[in-house]
Amino acid sequence: MTVGRAGVVVVGAGIAGVACAAELVRAGIPVQVRERARVTGGRMASKRFDGRPADLGAAYFTVDHPEFAEVAEGWRAAGLAREWTDTLVAYGPEGRRELTGPTRWSAPRGLRSLVEHLARDLPVVHDRLVLTVEPGPRVDGQDCAAVALAMPGPQAALLLDPALGAATRAVTGQRWSPALSAMLRFPARHWSDLRGAFVNGHPVLSLICDDGDRRGDGAPVLVAHTTPEFASGHLLQPTAAGPAIELAVRDLLGLPEPAGLVHVHGWTYAKPATAANGTYHLDDDGIGIAGDAFGKPRVQSAWLSGRDLGRALVDRLR
Ligand SMILES: Cc1cc2nc3c(=O)[nH]c(=O)nc-3n(C[C@H](O)[C@H](O)[C@H](O)COP(=O)(O)OP(=O)(O)OC[C@H]3O[C@@H](n4cnc5c(N)ncnc54)[C@H](O)[C@@H]3O)c2cc1C
Repeated sequence: MTVGRAGVVVVGAGIAGVACAAELVRAGIPVQVRERARVTGGRMASKRFDGRPADLGAAYFTVDHPEFAEVAEGWRAAGLAREWTDTLVAYGPEGRRELTGPTRWSAPRGLRSLVEHLARDLPVVHDRLVLTVEPGPRVDGQDCAAVALAMPGPQAALLLDPALGAATRAVTGQRWSPALSAMLRFPARHWSDLRGAFVNGHPVLSLICDDGDRRGDGAPVLVAHTTPEFASGHLLQPTAAGPAIELAVRDLLGLPEPAGLVHVHGWTYAKPATAANGTYHLDDDGIGIAGDAFGKPRVQSAWLSGRDLGRALVDRLR
């Protein structure tokens, strides 16, 4: 399938790209979403282990915007999302304490299923790594009406011709931090009342989530996220960090050996460290940029950013 001069190419099928494309399709503007991975979802990443999904990207999502609340209700009505908990624990130098906060939502089939649901009627092409975005705009040599780059700024910077000055400045101004996430399966649930735990002041860990609890199947599976500092030394070989993460989790929670190998995923660009101005970028060269860099590093921010960029493109192209 090609997108002619009148159409928009959205690069990235994470939640921002999908939200952007949905607005364009709704307005009748031709669009094609190009995604380098085999699947939709981006950092709302669910990987299957022996047929069971575990969330290795976003741990959960929160909702405080009324229009995103409608999206969450749509997922709930489809049986894909549920309110998980408003109470997590925090481990720190002062010990363990309970923390009540916003309701965290989870997805029984994995957070990726939520993005797939939003993308179900969209023209998403997978395994399609976009290499160049040039003035015109042109995407990999093909003319189009506009381009939406829905991904972390440093990934967008790799594509942009430096002649696209406004977009280049917008993405190179972003700062990002890395993380590793590790899936640990145990022989049995050796913990109780864990749900999720923020780990403060630890050299390795930042968060541990009870994946069986958030998924609702009670599987004895934990997913641990590391600090950016620990991650930055292990991005070339994330798997090699498995033993250190395992040791840290077992030590903190007093657990026996896991039942199998620890799977580690490296995120070079896990979360934006600074928030860009506004909710998206759109310039006179026809280049749009969306994602969680335009807000807090949250699923909701990414959806709002993509949705707003989609609306701005509709206004411009109609
Ligand atoms: C470890 C971790 C923990 C997190 N925890 C939480 C949490 O608890 N709560 C929360 O709300 N948020 C959390 N987040 C953040 C949340 O995942 C993001 O805000 C959201 O998923 C970002 O969506 P996006 O569409 O902006 O970007 P992404 O999901 O990164 O999507 C970008 C897409 O672009 C694709 N792409 C990149 N380059 C190209 C190219 N050249 N050609 C084609 N495709 C390309 C990528 O493959 C990807 O699919 C977490 C993230 C991580 C990594």
